[in-house]
Amino acid sequence: MGEEKRWHAHYPKEIPASIAYDEKPLHAFLMEGAKRYKEKKALHFMGKELSFEEVCVQAKKMACYMQALGLKKGDRVAVMLPNSPQSVISYYGALMAGATVVQTNPLYKERELEYQLNDSGATFIVCLDILLPTVTNVRESTAVRHTIVTGIKDYLPFPKNLIYPFIQKKQYKMVVKPEQTDDTHIWSRIMANTSDNYTEIDVNPKEDLALLQYTGGTTGFPKGVMLTHYNLVANVQMSQAWLYKAERGKEVVLGVLPFFHVYGMTTVMNMSIMFGAKMVLLPKFDAEEVLKTIQKQKATLFPGAPTIYVGLLNHPNLKKYDLASIEACISGSAPLPVEVQEQFEKVTNGRLVEGYGLTESSPVTHANFVWEKRVNGSIGVPWPDTDAKILSPDSLEEADIGEVGELAVKGPQVMKGYWNKPDETESVLKDGWLLTGDLGYMDEQGYFYIVDRKKDMIIAGGYNIYPREVEEVLYEHEGVQEAVVAGIPDAYRGETVKAYIVLKSGYQPDEKELNKYCRKHLAAYKVPRIYEFRDELPKTAVGKILRRKLVEEEKEKNTDN
Ligand code: AMP
Repeated sequence: MGEEKRWHAHYPKEIPASIAYDEKPLHAFLMEGAKRYKEKKALHFMGKELSFEEVCVQAKKMACYMQALGLKKGDRVAVMLPNSPQSVISYYGALMAGATVVQTNPLYKERELEYQLNDSGATFIVCLDILLPTVTNVRESTAVRHTIVTGIKDYLPFPKNLIYPFIQKKQYKMVVKPEQTDDTHIWSRIMANTSDNYTEIDVNPKEDLALLQYTGGTTGFPKGVMLTHYNLVANVQMSQAWLYKAERGKEVVLGVLPFFHVYGMTTVMNMSIMFGAKMVLLPKFDAEEVLKTIQKQKATLFPGAPTIYVGLLNHPNLKKYDLASIEACISGSAPLPVEVQEQFEKVTNGRLVEGYGLTESSPVTHANFVWEKRVNGSIGVPWPDTDAKILSPDSLEEADIGEVGELAVKGPQVMKGYWNKPDETESVLKDGWLLTGDLGYMDEQGYFYIVDRKKDMIIAGGYNIYPREVEEVLYEHEGVQEAVVAGIPDAYRGETVKAYIVLKSGYQPDEKELNKYCRKHLAAYKVPRIYEFRDELPKTAVGKILRRKLVEEEKEKNTDN
């Protein structure tokens, strides 16, 4: 970047304003880790541990197997798994084979999965056995030719205290064991029968895509964010610089953020692999399990979201656990209440600071300093090599200090664009500047603040929800004439989904029925929690429903109370 910015004045001497990022593919770090750390544990999963060498060998086997099935450089591989050894191995295996990984939320229902597979053109999918029926039901209408199936038991005897998402022990026993066929492949057989004699393929880190990460962007349906190897490597190396007191090869990173979201993927999975840390994987958030795991595994780094820290602080058994191993936590995805920050620091003795980012920037662009001056209520300052400015809503030029406008960011972590969507890319990427869709301001000192979101996306309990997707489902219900969905303030989830509905004549409001309908077609976290039936919805002169007006109404209601 070269230019001295006002925030650089606060950088401690340990953090460089600019870094020479490694121009290597992401998976090269796993191969180096296997040599450097060998038997050192790379991951812990509910009692089972795998070393760097083991993870690397298994990823190589996966790469060789996929290549033997015809996978070519640039092909897309969907990974539909909760945090588990398999999610790490298939991700790195696919990269070694030259593929682009498409992270897929295992909570997706058929229509959501089908959309993502078709949009990305994935030809392979790796999924959990319990998700196989969902995959099988949509496979024919997609380009997927090979399904790789794995189960919990591939790494564990059935866990005693099952904290697996979406499954009960009873239910799991009923899963039909899939059979190996020409297009369905069984994980345990791959690992038992495949050679790890992998030949490296040529990757251009600055050009080749490591990842298509789906997000709504500023409007509409989820789009595939194209992130290169270099984008991802740079973001991890920035975070290593930020966490300069962390020791290479010594840290234990708590992995409760899901890896199918860019935040967990970068700050837990890729960070641990590149930094020689042990990642401790939890397949879902269960407050007591997290507390227990911190104590037992002596976790030192713990990236999370405000709802996660709030959930832990409110757990009745909080005081029973020793959390003193925690050194540093960066909270992202939503504003971090100061109260939560202070309480959490008291119970852990570590530091909890707020950061900011988005899928389009791999994701982190800003954070408060962990060990130096931090500003409550601020997202902190831009990371090394990251430039940021606020665009004045009137002139679209750089705003004055303190003036609210759209935040724009630029840096080596910023995406290449949206997959197959040149127009949408053009509307958010201008001369290398990414328009974030977030509204905020910068103060005299160069600290940034987010005050609102310009984009439609709702963030509830750390999950992103795109109103269009939910509205499409509502519109398909026979009784619905018009529907609009908005995020309204919620004390625990940050925001929650509310649907405003105009019914066709002859239909009676029936919240239960609509709820049931939505549950069938949408992942549970997207289903509206509140329904309001109206005779009409506010609209512009050209008939566009004014979602923003409804959001404002809700905000006013909250301030009146
Ligand atoms: P995602 O693409 O899922 O990573 O979501 C990115 C969005 O999360 C950003 O564009 C913001 O709207 C929101 N976000 C992330 N961090 C913060 C924060 N510290 N405060 C407020 N909003 C945030």
